[in-house]
Amino acid sequence: MVISQPDHVYTFVTFRLEEPVIWPRRTFYTAQDAEELAETVASYPVCESLLFGELWLKRERASLVNVEDGVLDKWHYGRIVLAGDAAHKVTINMGFGGNSSIESIVALCSQLKSEIVSHKESSLSLSTLERVFESYQAKRHAPMKMIMNLSLFTTRILTWDTPLIKLFARWIFPWLPKRYLIDQFSKIIKGGPKLDYIGMDNFPRGRLAWEDEATTDNSNDEDLE
Ligand SMILES: Cc1cc2nc3c(=O)[nH]c(=O)nc-3n(C[C@H](O)[C@H](O)[C@H](O)COP(=O)(O)OP(=O)(O)OC[C@H]3O[C@@H](n4cnc5c(N)ncnc54)[C@H](O)[C@@H]3O)c2cc1C
Repeated sequence: MVISQPDHVYTFVTFRLEEPVIWPRRTFYTAQDAEELAETVASYPVCESLLFGELWLKRERASLVNVEDGVLDKWHYGRIVLAGDAAHKVTINMGFGGNSSIESIVALCSQLKSEIVSHKESSLSLSTLERVFESYQAKRHAPMKMIMNLSLFTTRILTWDTPLIKLFARWIFPWLPKRYLIDQFSKIIKGGPKLDYIGMDNFPRGRLAWEDEATTDNSNDEDLE
């Protein structure tokens, strides 16, 4: 997977592990491990005129890490609450990890703000906080499980995890309509939580309407292609 910025190119090479590493077991890799693994794919072409080995030699930096995922069953304890990767970690291939982390913070802030306003106090009791945290987790848990599974499926496709998935990745996936992935992503993005207490009237609009603002006007849909 290659992502480019005006002045940098980021290249991700995903290898399939023989078996998953399940917590509390953890694996850390050295620069030498990365070097040895890069050597195994050095002769692979990245494009018509470049081998991975040549790209590797020109790198600014590189690291080898496990691709992790998981959604915790409990996200809070007393006055402590988790958000982001600490509560819900997804594989990197759909680019949803950071975005989902921000969405969780948004959901949490909206609920906290609404409690603070209704209590007319800046400090909330432990029982109120626990209720807010529970409701925040309830709102975000199922969407994060769905995003985790979709991200994992994407990772499995990219790594040809099983013969069936390889068949799907090589011969079926390329024939899916161009819009298929965009539609899947869009469904997730437009259902995201918003900061309830920020006026949105003068906020710039994107090409995709929020789910709760959806209109019947689909004139911009073609642009998404
Ligand atoms: C290679 C890669 C590509 C990615 N691409 C995308 C993308 O395109 N789009 C996207 O939305 N997401 C992407 N993500 C995911 C995104 O980076 C994470 O989901 C996001 O950074 C999570 O934010 P966070 O604040 O929850 O955790 P982190 O960003 O991990 O922040 C946690 C911080 O806590 C610090 N910390 C840890 N332990 C302690 C301690 N004991 N004391 C003090 N500090 C501590 C850490 O150093 C770190 O700075 C990618 C991730 C990776 C690895």
